[in-house]
Amino acid sequence: MSEKKPFEIARETLKQLTVRKLLPTPLNYQAIYNEIAGVPQVQPFPADSLRDIAQALPAKTPGQQKQRGLLEYAIDRLNWEGVKAALVAYGGFVPAVGLDKSGVGASSQGEIKPVTVPAITEDFLAQIGRLIEYAQPALGTDDEHFGEQTKELLKALNRPGTDVATAKLMMVNYSHRLSFTAEDQAEIKKSLLKLLHLVFENIGELSLDEKWLKGQMDALMDASKPPLTLRRLDDVERRLKDVIFKQKDAKERSLQAQNEMRQMLATFIDRLSEMTRSTGSFHEKLVENARQIEKARTIADIAPVLKEVVGATRTMADQSKIAGEELQAMRVRADETERELVKLHKELDRVSSQARHDPLTGALNRKGMDEAMEKEVSNVRRKDTPLSVALLDIDNFKNLNDTLGHTTGDEALAHLAAVARECMRPQDTLARYGGEEFVILLPDTPLDKGVEAMTRLQRELTKRFFLAGTEKILITFSAGVAQLTANEKGAGAIKRADQAMYLAKRAGKNRVIAA
Ligand code: GH3
Ligand code: MG
Ligand code: MG
Repeated sequence: MSEKKPFEIARETLKQLTVRKLLPTPLNYQAIYNEIAGVPQVQPFPADSLRDIAQALPAKTPGQQKQRGLLEYAIDRLNWEGVKAALVAYGGFVPAVGLDKSGVGASSQGEIKPVTVPAITEDFLAQIGRLIEYAQPALGTDDEHFGEQTKELLKALNRPGTDVATAKLMMVNYSHRLSFTAEDQAEIKKSLLKLLHLVFENIGELSLDEKWLKGQMDALMDASKPPLTLRRLDDVERRLKDVIFKQKDAKERSLQAQNEMRQMLATFIDRLSEMTRSTGSFHEKLVENARQIEKARTIADIAPVLKEVVGATRTMADQSKIAGEELQAMRVRADETERELVKLHKELDRVSSQARHDPLTGALNRKGMDEAMEKEVSNVRRKDTPLSVALLDIDNFKNLNDTLGHTTGDEALAHLAAVARECMRPQDTLARYGGEEFVILLPDTPLDKGVEAMTRLQRELTKRFFLAGTEKILITFSAGVAQLTANEKGAGAIKRADQAMYLAKRAGKNRVIAA
């Protein structure tokens, strides 16, 4: 505390105000006075301003009224602690509000209220983070720099306390790069698809002689047209596996046959040249012997020549015999090779059940259907969507075979499959379940819609007759439809559809019954 008297302090204060070039306001005067007097600086209590604020606070609820009263009381007593306590308690009576466009929480009446900004903002930023994270796989991993940028942004968005301005700046940079990456990805997808078509076209060209392969290639081209879905890609994969399987096998078969033929041809040429050589020397020998016989005067002269002729003839006969035997052996070997090839072909037909498509109708076979069913059932479990399974059996098919022949029967099966494929949606799957029985998998389809789909197919068949030569034949079928239930296996649904189909037969055929 200063030893100076108050008037001395006052005089010195005025002097300092001039020296320090300060305006002679009450606040400046008090500050300098306190400094000279050695009194701690105390901020003046802004009672009037605080009263204004208190007046502006709404007092709609009893809680708000009470706290506003306490605030005014504290202001009257120049009590900072009281002001603080009253304001904090008042905050507890204000409902939480969202951010308006200016970032200030305000109710529709224009009352200013405290806003829980940090909680909302963090949650919001974390949500944006999740959005970016989920979209990430679609953008690929080729651009390392973009990957790093994404990681940094996600880190910032998930870090508590990240301020909105920083996050916004990072997102602006991210969006800029994202626009290029997304464009690139779309371009890559388009180019890959083009490439895929080129590959298909090429394989197709190589396989012109194989009718089955040609059909598969056309189906592949169709299946790989945009818009691509995972289901269509599955189909492309299955068909391509079949094509590769068949091509590999066909190549092995032809290589083996080529080798056999090359070997046999080489042996044959060897034999032929040997025979030509020995026949040539035999001929020369005979000419020589004939000349000696002409010159001979006595039997004794002829005897050695005859002996030579007999010897040469025997040698020739022996060689011919050996050559004949060898050629005979070669023929046996050729026959064996041919038999081997026939066996191989049969074996191929047997193992081609490993393929996933039925060659006659182009529908999936049992193996293909089992795979497709497994995928559909797992989709149902994942997405909780309905899956309907239809089983149809052609009516009186044996009769059609008996009257028009088995080949026409085959054509009728192919016709039914073609019509079914045309009136199904791209995501539906057609499989040949047995001789004249087909299964259709209908994803995202509840039971009633599944029955409708089958009835539609029946109607379509009455419009599109099957032509046996010039004769129009109406193909009808009986069908059962079942919707996969919770915990049921695919085979269970097919079994129920089969039972319903049986009921449709019993009820007079040419109808669809729900299981
Ligand atoms: P229903 O109306 O009760 O079904 O009588 P259906 O004659 O259709 O049935 P059934 O089971 O008695 O005969 C089915 C026939 O289908 C017998 C079989 O020869 C014929 N079939 C099975 N697979 C083929 C095939 O690949 N081609 C041909 N042409 N016929 C087939
Ligand atoms: Mg049948
Ligand atoms: Mg039948």
